Amino acid sequence: MPNQIDNQIASEAAPELAGDALYPRGALVQAQLIEIFKEKYRIPLITSSILSIIVAIFLRETVAWNLLLAWLVIINLSNIARLVYFMRLAGHPSNHRNLLRFANHYTVAVAFNGLLWGLAAIIFFPPDQPEYQVFLAFVIGGLAAGAAANYAAWLPAFYAHTALSTLPLAIRYMAEGREVSIIMGVILLLFVASVYATARNSHNSLRRMAEMQVDRSLLIKRLEQANQAKTEFLSSMSHELRTPLNSILGFGQLLSDGTVEVPPEKQASFAGQIVKSGQHLLDLIERVLELSKAETGKLQLDLEPVSIKEIIGDCVDMMSAEAKERKVELFNEIGATELPMAFADPARTRQVLLNLISNGIKYNRDGGIVTLSAEAGEDKAIRIVVRDTGSGIPAAKWDQLFEPFNRLGRESGPIKGTGIGLTISKQIVEQMHGRIGFESSEGQGSEFWIELPCAADTD
Ligand code: ADP
Repeated sequence: MPNQIDNQIASEAAPELAGDALYPRGALVQAQLIEIFKEKYRIPLITSSILSIIVAIFLRETVAWNLLLAWLVIINLSNIARLVYFMRLAGHPSNHRNLLRFANHYTVAVAFNGLLWGLAAIIFFPPDQPEYQVFLAFVIGGLAAGAAANYAAWLPAFYAHTALSTLPLAIRYMAEGREVSIIMGVILLLFVASVYATARNSHNSLRRMAEMQVDRSLLIKRLEQANQAKTEFLSSMSHELRTPLNSILGFGQLLSDGTVEVPPEKQASFAGQIVKSGQHLLDLIERVLELSKAETGKLQLDLEPVSIKEIIGDCVDMMSAEAKERKVELFNEIGATELPMAFADPARTRQVLLNLISNGIKYNRDGGIVTLSAEAGEDKAIRIVVRDTGSGIPAAKWDQLFEPFNRLGRESGPIKGTGIGLTISKQIVEQMHGRIGFESSEGQGSEFWIELPCAADTD
């Protein structure tokens, strides 16, 4: 069976499959079932056409010929229309919307076919000729069994066809009033019930198969994405490491090889550049190591009840010098707010907050403000908010914010950074069973928040 779902996931699924915003798993399973339903279009069409001719020939002595002919023409024309619709559809892209539209249209066509068979059972019913009655029962029963096999993937088509083709005949039998006819009607209904159970069982098996197929495709897609992310990560990492290393080598060579005369007053500045680049390199390497630990879940976390008020107070004290240097005012708005204890690692919480405050200061303007606040949030969590009046983040870059080494275009700007602070922060917060997020408005500022579980809630 051609794997349409793989194509669909590859071409249309949301880039971030965890959210599956565009095509949730249920929709993909449904699409897979419709694909199976589509594949089985031939047999019911052929069966319906051949049986209609057999019925017309068999009943030619008992039913008015023009009535038989009219029915024969209508049922075969409708079959041809169904075939043409199907052929035209082959050129359409196999996406979920098109598939669902096909399934609905095709169900109406299948229902119409069922109705024509149901009408035949009523109109052609020969009251006093049991052999013809039994023949009709066989034909209609056979069609119902066929529908269970062919339409099990899409039950609405099975229900519509079977109900419209069998119930009229069962009612017609009962209406005869004779004991034998009533028994025939009941047998037909029992047969329909067993066919119904068979169709449901087949449907459940097909659904399980479709779910497995979708899960497999989603897994492959996720692995491909993870692999791609790793490749991008490695290439940005080597680029980031190469930049300070080149600067160290460049200045080092100038000082050491003696081909260029370096005036003594410049020598100190070159040595300073070497030290600065060396420090940046060390910082990068430490952060990369930390990121790799965070990604493999090897971060040492000591979760315990912690006072968020105290941690925020410490962070504000630690960052006040940097804020002053950058001409940014740092405010602690917690004041007398009563806060429950959080259940977190105090050192890691401090690390995350320091990163958020440092970003709030770095990406701010002269005379700008950074404020820290906290409140008992929803779902028994404590929400800590770091708000700044800086440059904000353009909406087009929001989805790249937590990507490692992505500085959102600030790589060559004057503000120093590694582009992995937020990636590490996200890993840390999530490993402490919390959440991190932000809101930002370009030119006006940003608001970064983290939510940590309350201590009492984790007992
Ligand atoms: P770094 O600050 O070291 O570059 P981060 O991972 O902390 O790395 O942040 C990634 C990028 O997100 C930054 O380079 C910056 O472009 C953007 N950013 C982070 N915080 C803010 C903020 N408060 N205001 C504006 N931009 C921000």
